[in-house]
Amino acid sequence: MPENTDIAQAMTIRLKGDLPKTPRFIENIRRAPDRGFRLTRAQTEVALKNALRYVPEAHHAVLAPEFLSELKTRGRIYGYRFRPAGNIKAKPVDAYNGKCLAGQAIQLMIDNNLDFEVALYPYELVTYGEGGSVCQNWMQYRLIKQYLEAMTEHHTLVMQSGHPLGLFQSSPDQSRVIISNGLMVGLYDNPEDWEIAAQMGVSAYGQMTAGGWMYIGPQGIVHGTYSTLLNAGRKMCGVPDDGNLSGLLFVSSGLGGMGGAQPKAAKIAGAVSITAEVDSSRIQTRLDQNWVDMASTDLPGIFSIAEQALKSGNPLSIAYSGNVVDLLEHIAAHHIHVDLLSDQTSCHAAYDGGYCPQGISFEERTRLLATDRERFRELVDTSLRRHFKLIQTVSQRGVYFFDYGNAFLKAVFDAGVTEVAKNGKDAKDGFIFPSYFEDIMGPIFDYGYGPFRWVCLSGKPEDLVATDKAAMSCIDPDRRPEDRDNYVWIRDADRNQLVVGSRARILYQDALGRTRIALKFNKMVRSGSVGPIMLGRDHHDPGGTDSPFRETANILDGSNVCADMATHCFAGNAARGMTMVALHNGGGTGIGKAINGGFGLVLDGSRRVDDIIRSAMNWDVMGGVARRSWARNPNAMEVALRYNQENANRDQITLPYLVDESLLKEAVDEVFSKTDSREEIAP
Ligand code: NAD
Repeated sequence: MPENTDIAQAMTIRLKGDLPKTPRFIENIRRAPDRGFRLTRAQTEVALKNALRYVPEAHHAVLAPEFLSELKTRGRIYGYRFRPAGNIKAKPVDAYNGKCLAGQAIQLMIDNNLDFEVALYPYELVTYGEGGSVCQNWMQYRLIKQYLEAMTEHHTLVMQSGHPLGLFQSSPDQSRVIISNGLMVGLYDNPEDWEIAAQMGVSAYGQMTAGGWMYIGPQGIVHGTYSTLLNAGRKMCGVPDDGNLSGLLFVSSGLGGMGGAQPKAAKIAGAVSITAEVDSSRIQTRLDQNWVDMASTDLPGIFSIAEQALKSGNPLSIAYSGNVVDLLEHIAAHHIHVDLLSDQTSCHAAYDGGYCPQGISFEERTRLLATDRERFRELVDTSLRRHFKLIQTVSQRGVYFFDYGNAFLKAVFDAGVTEVAKNGKDAKDGFIFPSYFEDIMGPIFDYGYGPFRWVCLSGKPEDLVATDKAAMSCIDPDRRPEDRDNYVWIRDADRNQLVVGSRARILYQDALGRTRIALKFNKMVRSGSVGPIMLGRDHHDPGGTDSPFRETANILDGSNVCADMATHCFAGNAARGMTMVALHNGGGTGIGKAINGGFGLVLDGSRRVDDIIRSAMNWDVMGGVARRSWARNPNAMEVALRYNQENANRDQITLPYLVDESLLKEAVDEVFSKTDSREEIAP
């Protein structure tokens, strides 16, 4: 074994200097709950060794007991001492040290994910979704920053679950950062084994844009929620294509990182909304941002105010300070009519604190998580079962309920309600209630529309206004209803004051729209009319995510259990030179339930970047459309067919031949003539 002195000398980029001072935590900044220490003695020794390997030996005697205490009381070693003091915020890109624009821009993106105003648990490096982390600990944060400062256009930084593996030589046409998070070998690809790996400091939950460093605050989800609600209204409540949700009531829960977008989106869409939230600090954040208009614990009062607003046709957003199950009890008991009903509690991590059971306060939930996880689990299951019963009751009275991508129906199934599964035995054929994906957003994704986004790296508000205008000029509002919605969205985006954190914008676009806008932006950067821009998207996109309970819930050819598409999307983006590429396990639905990837592309105005846009932006979306088309999804087939016609001699997508259903039935009837289920047929 080499000596520690030789090891230190063999690294120019490393943690150096005195031990930082013991940190002071600012009050009222939300803290992650204790994740519940559950390692064996041998695993604990390895976990400690793993954390100490970032730090010179001289500090080990002080840090060993400190790290052990973090592990025992928090279920993780965060290395709090290494966190820079005060708030971390995205600064203008020029304010970052670095040897290339990408290195500086990526530091900006990381810092935005950790901003007190943006992040869910900033001290624990969690950006959103209960556990979605930038990296695992503050030693990694410091090291990543140093690597990004040292990075040139001839380097690629390799990130493995928050750990910077090293800087490797590459070329300007290749990716600057390649990220993976939470990827597990199949046998261990489950929340329990992942949790052990996380406690040992070898795996991270990146969610989507948390560990992919492309989070842009709750705005990122406002547009998707706005489109989901508008289209749910069109489909289920008779809202005309050019109408809005005026006079309709939307009820949901969760004002967290993503869920906080619901009242804002509902208001932009013209609806009255009531959102239940158990954590009063979340409600305060949304009140401070003007994303909810009022909050109350008084259910009769809330519904009387809502009724007046519904009658007048004025949009209004109300937070109910309490448990969503209690809100539903009230709705069911008083036969209140609700038009659209959903849920945005963190059910993908229901037993880790993401779902607060009925009957206990938020504070009791946090205490119980630390002291008695078994009891907490029982309460979660009881509450989810009651939650489901109430949804059944109100939906029988005509309320449209949809699962909004938080694995709610899967959590209900895991709580023992087998009747929630379509086939009554497992989740493979989906659930009796539709996910928003099957009913609403899936067909829109099939066209290739998804949450494209950008960040003006100068930090100047005027750059954002200029890019909004430029993007709007690229959209033909008469092409499809979706284009009209997107046009209206970007036209009003500045007025709707959506920015929290960096100067960013989200805009749903398809392959053509994204490519056009990206080329236009790069030209603007070239001419100097705006500063450099970081382009990207949410991983929640047509090609970026394989997730049978969400993004691929409308894939019905059996390949919803496969993760080839997301993997190819990631690999193709890396091969085509996107600045930053990420591939994660988990995402919005939990470990083992999704593989998702994303990218970031720095627009520096160069012709080189024009070329990357032309090949990579198209691939990023059309890979997804091609797979959706192969699954026989009609909108995707329409796009793929036209794509082949327009790109003859360049690209070609394999198209599926369709089968006459009666011929199919006849053939299969031959095999299943005596019985109608696979299990009953004799071998
Ligand atoms: P979050 O953890 O930040 O917020 C969840 C909120 O729900 C918390 O504020 C919590 O206090 C509240 N809550 C929990 N139980 C409650 C209860 N019983 N009653 C009332 N409030 C309760 O998570 P987030 O980032 O807002 O994401 C929410 C969920 O949505 C996650 O499962 C996430 O994976 C999923 N998600 C969906 C989409 C989408 O496009 N549909 C996108 C991203 C995330």
